[in-house]
Amino acid sequence: MAHGTPEGLEYRGSIFDKCYAVTKADQLRNTGIYPYFRAIQESEGPEVIMEGRKIVMAGSNNYLGLTTHPKVKEAAIKAIEQYGTSSSGSRFLTGTLDLHNELELKLAKFIGKEAALLFSTGYQTSQGVLFPLVGRSDYIFSDHENHASIVAGMLLARGALNTPVVRYHHNDMEDLEKRLQRVPAKAGKVIVTDGVFSTFGDIVPLNTLCSLAQKYNAQVLIDDAHSLGVLGEGGRGTASHYGLSHEVDLVFSTFSKTLASIGGFVGGEKRVIDYLKHESSAFMFSCSPSASATAAALAALHVLQTEPELIRKLHFNANVIRKGLQQMGYDVPDGQTAIVPVLLYDDAKACQLWQGLYDEGIFVNVFIAPAIPPGRAMLRTSLMASLEGNHLFRILEAYKKIGKRLRII
Ligand code: PMP
Repeated sequence: MAHGTPEGLEYRGSIFDKCYAVTKADQLRNTGIYPYFRAIQESEGPEVIMEGRKIVMAGSNNYLGLTTHPKVKEAAIKAIEQYGTSSSGSRFLTGTLDLHNELELKLAKFIGKEAALLFSTGYQTSQGVLFPLVGRSDYIFSDHENHASIVAGMLLARGALNTPVVRYHHNDMEDLEKRLQRVPAKAGKVIVTDGVFSTFGDIVPLNTLCSLAQKYNAQVLIDDAHSLGVLGEGGRGTASHYGLSHEVDLVFSTFSKTLASIGGFVGGEKRVIDYLKHESSAFMFSCSPSASATAAALAALHVLQTEPELIRKLHFNANVIRKGLQQMGYDVPDGQTAIVPVLLYDDAKACQLWQGLYDEGIFVNVFIAPAIPPGRAMLRTSLMASLEGNHLFRILEAYKKIGKRLRII
């Protein structure tokens, strides 16, 4: 993480020198609060066992709580019995299961696209969709706060293909337009954005973005990781939320959140998906999702479509926590997603609040520099449909008790 060599440590010209310097991780560990890599020993829905204690999970992306839904678990177990534990190969060769084809068809239909293609993770999806589609005369326009996986795809394109990358200010459509105006009218252009931004849970202003795309002849790519199952009609995502499903060219998302599994997919026009199927290295040269992961995602998609009350409960829970924290005096922006950010602006304070909540049996995520810009430290509270009234009460009580003790509220 850190660069440079600490006092007294001889520079030996090795790529490992930086690992022996004082890293950011060392600095954080030295404060006595290290909130990362806490192992879960058991998961019973909204409560998990960590370090031998029962903890209320208020930091997971398991938005509809489907990782422990009986139908999802049963589907995964049955798939292992039928296919074994790994698909053991790339889709191109021996790794295609009928389950993959079935899930692709169902996902495409669900989001209203002609076709879909599965990837092994959401990260690989973002990276693997963007890179094969651009060249040196195309321009990538990317929101400053896009997920790291989109940034990875962009940097690959810039490094390997010389594709110009233009980053616009977060959700700032005036800035995007100014930048669109500066590039040659005839150049290929793609605007890529998160639908819901993963740190603060805010939503892209897709109506303006799509109008700009039309005006400047650009394609629109959306990462719907935090929107699928959360926003739009029946959880169909950001484009559906705005009634703009036909204006978005490619939608990609992950199974690691609402769909209770691991893997990712992209949906779009049949020809484009077929092109990616034969040109995307991240797709072609990686083992396909296991049968159990694919069956779990299929079952989760089915539950999403047949139990719509889960989405309503998710929003109810998020609103209770958002409003409750605002009323206590926390700096919490209004929002419409499952992510409730608690803004603290100070790394030490964020870590102390995190530790206090954890001691009270509540797990949330802490974001400090360099994960986000310095001075913007925050806790990310993420809600699930499976949290019940008593869990919400405990989350709010813990925030109240520790916030008062630390004089944050
Ligand atoms: N995109 C976004 C916006 C994300 O938040 C994440 C995961 N945090 C990913 C992509 C990557 O998904 P996966 O975990 O499936 O690799």
